[in-house]
Amino acid sequence: MTVIAIDGTFASGKGTLGKRLAAHFGYAYLDTGKLYRATAAKILADAGDLEDGKSAAEYANALTMEDLDNPELKSGKIGAAASKVSVHKQVRAALFDFQQNFAKNPGKAYKGTILDGRDIGTVICPNADVKLYVDAKPEIRAERRHKELVSYGEEISYEQVLAQLKERDHRDMNRAEAPLKPAANAHLLDTTNLGIDAAFEAARTLICAVLERQV
Ligand code: C5P
Repeated sequence: MTVIAIDGTFASGKGTLGKRLAAHFGYAYLDTGKLYRATAAKILADAGDLEDGKSAAEYANALTMEDLDNPELKSGKIGAAASKVSVHKQVRAALFDFQQNFAKNPGKAYKGTILDGRDIGTVICPNADVKLYVDAKPEIRAERRHKELVSYGEEISYEQVLAQLKERDHRDMNRAEAPLKPAANAHLLDTTNLGIDAAFEAARTLICAVLERQV
């Protein structure tokens, strides 16, 4: 089973890349951010406490596949709440097995898996065959994310998106548990000046080169 780990900053393009690469290689794909978003969405729906790790972990443990299909998970509010629940050790532990099992057993139809998130190459799949770390300048990421949020009908300014994005980067990179950082053997992909097609091509070429070396 080939495992490809994609980590990176918020709105770096890693999700779009992960999906396209999975379709190209015929691999299963898991957007692990959805697990944290779905946990946060359930807590918000119950007016629960995002700061309470023990209770948040109970929500994480009770997640179902249907919870991951909630279209509201994409919202800025839920993304920010996800970043808050993801600092808790108990929440990360509750979601660990699900992610590892997916990486190992994605289903008979697949020859490999791609997981994207913040700690895939460092914690969830440290032995992944290929590790990518995707990043871009904050201003470019904020521009992309602003466009996306406006397309969902959210009323938010570019400046607000940039400020929230910097806050999110800071929290994800500085938390005690599984902070966002490139794995020691990750290949860095900077998408600042790359459109999605060029980023896909760069990632595809890199993955093929690494996999060929392993044969
Ligand atoms: O990738 P996405 O923006 O959907 O992730 C939402 C939040 O979930 C991130 O800001 C991060 O705090 C958390 N997350 C994480 N580990 C992952 C995936 C997401 O901590 N593997």
